[in-house]
Amino acid sequence: MIPAAHAVLDFSALRHNVERVREYARGAKIMAVIKANGYGHGLERIADALSTIDAFAVARVDEGVRLREAGIGQRIVVLEGFCQHNELDLLRRFGLEPVIHDASQIDLLESVAVTQSLSVWLKLDSGMHRLGFDAEEFTAAYRRLNDCQAVRQPISLMTHLAKADDLDDDTTSRQVQQFKRVTTGFAGECSIANSAGIMGWSDIHADWVRPGIMLFGVSPFSDKNGGDHGLKPVMTLHSRLLAIKNLQTGDAVGYGGEWVCSRPMRMGIVAVGYGDGYPRSAVSGTPVLVNGQRVELIGRVSMDMISVDLSECASAKVGDSVVLWGEDLPVEEIAKYASTIPYTLLCGVTQRVRIIEEQWAAQDAVVKESRA
Ligand SMILES: *Cc1c(COP(=O)(O)O)cnc(C)c1O
Repeated sequence: MIPAAHAVLDFSALRHNVERVREYARGAKIMAVIKANGYGHGLERIADALSTIDAFAVARVDEGVRLREAGIGQRIVVLEGFCQHNELDLLRRFGLEPVIHDASQIDLLESVAVTQSLSVWLKLDSGMHRLGFDAEEFTAAYRRLNDCQAVRQPISLMTHLAKADDLDDDTTSRQVQQFKRVTTGFAGECSIANSAGIMGWSDIHADWVRPGIMLFGVSPFSDKNGGDHGLKPVMTLHSRLLAIKNLQTGDAVGYGGEWVCSRPMRMGIVAVGYGDGYPRSAVSGTPVLVNGQRVELIGRVSMDMISVDLSECASAKVGDSVVLWGEDLPVEEIAKYASTIPYTLLCGVTQRVRIIEEQWAAQDAVVKESRA
């Protein structure tokens, strides 16, 4: 039995999106960024489905350990690196590659008595002002790592773009120029571009690209949907109609009763809410698909349920299929109605939502039909 609120993953879409990355960044190797539980799609599951990818990147050491324990053999970069001795032990034990962004990490590396065991990525802060050494500190950090017995050579080099989704802003060009200037003459592979960098800018693909959101079929640009870039959504969030009722003019719907019927109407209750990761900030009017037809959310989102206007959906009945985002309803659009970005919606899908691969969802439908 598939629970009411479930997310169906389309792995053919995932593979299609990887091909789009290859088209944008011809010749570059791909480090698939699958932090935050694979942007809500399931860490191990997505890594398994990307078996031909060159490398993976995660944010934290424990995410890298999970991938190794799931049998993932590719290189794994840990974007936040480490800040404790025990994390360094795990990195070495599981063959993970930390990003070095702070001098305290080099102190730790110099204090361990191991030879050439750890591959590392040295990060330049080229203007994001989050992690990384600034241009003045970078060379000294590189030299220390070069001399450090615990570090395998050559050291890989990276930076991160702060505004690559704004094509009219020259920050990206300045960041890239600075990265090239500071790293010229250093041995080691380079990586600069996230999804917006890959799709929006040329000449910044370097040796490795680091796509995250675009792998999942979603656009990093606020005025575009994944489909505009030829990407296909991997996740479709589904639920079902739990109840249908007829309301009268003046009836108030949901907590707070903020939404009031201005006419007699048919209303549906859908089994999804913020307890599943559907955003509480979604306003009345947010589109929802009932049997593939667009209807509108009405009233406040509660923990387990939402209400929709079924006035234009006369044939809808209890048990019918509902789509909250995904195929035919871009998550980018829902993010706008919820005053957020698609990243938070995908990452925010909660444990309660069963995640299923498309082939199994289709099989369940066949089982249901043969029983009927
Ligand atoms: C998350 C992240 C990425 C991927 O970003 P997207 O916008 O999802 O493509 C790349 N590099 C770093 C350092 C990141 O933190």
